[in-house]
Parts: sequence; C-alpha cells; structure tokens
Amino acid sequence: MERIHIKGDTWYLDAPRATIPFYKLGDGAVVLLDSGSEGDTGIVEHFQAHGERVAAVLNSHGHLDHVHSNVPLREAFGAEIWMPKLEAAMQESLLGLKAEYDPINYHIIQQVFADALFSADHLIGVDQTSVTVGGATFRVIQTPGHSVSHVAFVTPDNVCYAGDVFSSPDLLSRARVLYTFCYAEDLKSKKRLAREQCDCFVVAHRGVFSDGAELARANIRYLYERVELMLKYMDRPMSREEIYRALFLGLGLHGGSPWKESNTVNMLGSLIEFLQTTRRVTTECRDGVFVYTKVPGAEQWDIESELLDL
Ligand SMILES: [Zn+2]
Repeated sequence: MERIHIKGDTWYLDAPRATIPFYKLGDGAVVLLDSGSEGDTGIVEHFQAHGERVAAVLNSHGHLDHVHSNVPLREAFGAEIWMPKLEAAMQESLLGLKAEYDPINYHIIQQVFADALFSADHLIGVDQTSVTVGGATFRVIQTPGHSVSHVAFVTPDNVCYAGDVFSSPDLLSRARVLYTFCYAEDLKSKKRLAREQCDCFVVAHRGVFSDGAELARANIRYLYERVELMLKYMDRPMSREEIYRALFLGLGLHGGSPWKESNTVNMLGSLIEFLQTTRRVTTECRDGVFVYTKVPGAEQWDIESELLDL
C-alpha cells in the first residue's frame, strides 16, 4: 500500500478501495481519518513497517467501508476511536446496526456483523466544531445527510477530509445510483463543505481535489439527474414497487444478493422520500396500496440556480 504526501504533515494511504488520509503528530504517532473497508487490508502492517503508531482514528461516519480496521488498530496500537455519537451508538449492538442498514433483514445483520461490534472511546457531538488529539486540533464540520450524523475533518494543514459527502467525478461517471440517507440535508452539507476555504479536499471514494465548489457542483448535478430520471419514469400514478421496478430496469440495477437488493431499495427509497420532501409527488392510499403521483411541473427544476451560490 502506497503512502502519498498531500501537504505539511498530512498524507494519505492509497488503499485498494479508499483514499485514507492520515496526519503525523510527531514521534512516530499518526492520526488516521477513517480506517477503510474489508478490502483495504494491510493498514496495521503498513504503519508497523514504517515504525509508526496509530494514536487515534477519527471516523467520519459508521458505514462498514469506513470503520473496518478500527478494532485491529486499537488492538495493535491502542488507537482511540472517535466517532459522531449518533453513529457510535449504532455500532454497539446488532439492532443498532439494523437501524443503520434498514431494511436489510436481521439474519444478514447477524451474519455480517457478528464480530464487528465496537464502542467508540470518544463521541463527537452534533454541535462540536473541533477535536484535539496529541496536541493537534482538527476542525469538525457537521455534514449530515449521507448518513445520520456524518462529519468532515480539517487537519491542522487545512486539508479537508470529506468522507462520503463528495464522490469523485470518476465514481459519479460510473455509479448507477449512490446511497444517501437524506438528500435534503445532504444537499445542504455538500454546499456547506464546498464553501470551506480549504487547500484541498480528500474524497474517500476517491482522490484529492483542489476545488471544493467544482466537486460539489458535480455531485449535486448527479443527484438531480437521478431525481429527474425517477420523475421521468413516473409517467402515471405508481406504487413504490412499480417505481423500484422501473428504475431497476431503466438503470440496469442488480438485486443479486439480499444485501445488495436491500441496499438498492434503500437508495431508491431515499429518492422517493426526497420527492415527497420537496413536494414533487403526492402520496395516497388506494385499496391498501400507497400510490405516488407526480405533481404538475415537477420536472421544472432549475438545477443551475441551485449551484449559483457555490
Ligand atoms: Zn458512507
């Protein structure tokens, strides 16, 4: 696994599935920002090989592909785990993780997470603006939406770790649909982060980018393109299952495993909820089936005006 310098004492690991920043505290101690996924093996060994010690992991959120090496790093180095408190609570029980990954069924949760529970050492509050580790202060920017209490961090070198608030333009060009817990709040967070005067932005999936506003524009355009696509398919009053089916076929999605199927339904469900939140669809119950109807003019959405204040 290669390490690449960003600025000052801020570096990143070019891990197989993620860009994972770290900050050198001095005397061989480092602070890691997220700890990668199951596929990002060798993180512990990487720091051992460099004679370094991971003093802390600052987690942006609790998703499986950002916390996988938390416990191994704690066991190897005594790393202290920092996490937004709403996300940390869910990591402590299987039912908490069921809430995190709803509607994935409990049997799968038990299989996947049986050995993955952990308790964070330090909780980051919903109004907290900084954390200090080993004498270094990292700014905390509250960026909820992608997950219930996602945060971004700014290292003392003014390098922002955006976590999953932004995806790289490369991923946006390939992804049929991306997960967001609540689009309405995620949109605000993307804009909030883009306005930060940081020297660069590290994106978990993946890369380092100098222009936060350009990243935000690309991500917001992607979101609205998915919204427009959903509205296009809603050419008549449709049930939730009919909307899912239209998008499954239209986007070429695959429900190959219960996990993947549930995840995809989750992503599409968030889009429907966004249309309800922004009053683009109405909902009524017809003979026991909830039916969604596009309101007149729903597609007349001026995306570019959304981007003007960036
Ligand atoms: Zn995530």
